[in-house]
Amino acid sequence: MHEFTPEIEKVAQEILEYSLTRLKDNPPLDGPKSEAELFEIVGNTITESGLGGSQTLELFVQTLAPACISTDHPRYLAFIPSAPTELANLFDLVVGASALYGGSWLEGAGAVFAENQTLRWLSDLAGLPDSAGGVFVQGGTIGNLSALVAARKEARNQHPDIKRWAVACSSEAHSSIASATEVMDVDLIKVPVHPDGIMRGSDVKSAIDKYRSEYADRDICAIVATAGTTNLGIIDDLPSVGAIANSYKIWFHVDGAYGLAGLANGDTRKLFAGVENADSFIVDPHKWLFAPFDACALVYRNPELGRQAHTQHAGYLDALTDSDDFNPSDYAIQLTRRTRGLPLWFSLAAHGTKAYSDAVEKTMDIARTAAELVKAHPNLELLREPNLSIVAFTRKGWAMADYKAWSDKLLEDQIGFVTPSTHKGEPILRFAIVNPWTQVSDIEAILATL
Ligand SMILES: *Cc1c(COP(=O)(O)O)cnc(C)c1O
Repeated sequence: MHEFTPEIEKVAQEILEYSLTRLKDNPPLDGPKSEAELFEIVGNTITESGLGGSQTLELFVQTLAPACISTDHPRYLAFIPSAPTELANLFDLVVGASALYGGSWLEGAGAVFAENQTLRWLSDLAGLPDSAGGVFVQGGTIGNLSALVAARKEARNQHPDIKRWAVACSSEAHSSIASATEVMDVDLIKVPVHPDGIMRGSDVKSAIDKYRSEYADRDICAIVATAGTTNLGIIDDLPSVGAIANSYKIWFHVDGAYGLAGLANGDTRKLFAGVENADSFIVDPHKWLFAPFDACALVYRNPELGRQAHTQHAGYLDALTDSDDFNPSDYAIQLTRRTRGLPLWFSLAAHGTKAYSDAVEKTMDIARTAAELVKAHPNLELLREPNLSIVAFTRKGWAMADYKAWSDKLLEDQIGFVTPSTHKGEPILRFAIVNPWTQVSDIEAILATL
């Protein structure tokens, strides 16, 4: 090890060749195998003398990779898929080969500079001031948690007398908000929403007033609006929720892990009016901004509040923290960090922002067509007109067991990957369309099985 031998050179060629083929050819959908099945084929891979690079790669290519669903397959429409650009994926190879350290300016200035320009692009699209800034973290879960911890820190500073804090979000908010409140040990106020699923300022106001009247020594440290719910793509009423947050002087966080990618397109951007009032927001480039796993952009209106909440202090870190440099580690729950924003930066810099706008537009078009096809289908009922690129519908006469059986068979037949979800306690299906490779014919192929 730690010597670039001719054998390593050979494995390097094999790895590059495999990577390029994977990028060039449409991947098969593939699917999981049980642990017993995998063990039967590959056995124990960890041995004293090692299997050698070529043989280990062979195990991966022949057995392990096909036991992973290709999340970038055009008919993978479950959860929120992923569709990295070729350049973003290629640059991920560079990041891996370069031992870049993204935690501090001292060690990673060039990489952090590029990441920050990417964050600036997102922040400007959202309409935050020039002073806004932040960091790429692992995912929306850590992004939301980091923003909410900063919000609580600020609330504690302002109101040291308050005994316990709460976070308010819509009943449709992502599960990571509830997870964050568990980790933080704060109360979670789930604001009931109207049948259209949109949280409005008046809903938030009632919920806050109720909480305050019940608990004299508690208060709300953050209001979370969702800009594109995971299940249905619903955008909370950002202007009125932001106005309530402002009038109550409560931190306004916008969770746009999926939806705020829509900022990249001029038409879609209009749906997010009001996001410019956010104290913090997140968007996951690994969802709808064509970057590989894993990357969440976390942006603070006032990054200094993020820094105060998250900077770690120790003698061995003083060389970093005593300087005025911008150290990405200081803005979230993390210390060592991969420069995970670089694949997006490279692709964005190379292709330009117009290509991103076009790619978002393309997925929106496919989603609109998919909604029309669902409406025209004799067995299906569209749940609501999609506002973003998620199309949700039901199959007449089916119970959850029918949906599950259909979903399993769809994958088994390698036609597509679509898993059932629920809405108001009832089973539904949803297509999350974030992949510009997804064509109308892909949607038709899946709908034909319903
Ligand atoms: C996906 C998602 C998250 C969580 O993001 P991860 O990257 O999976 O941690 C949070 N909020 C919303 C709205 C999401 O869609």
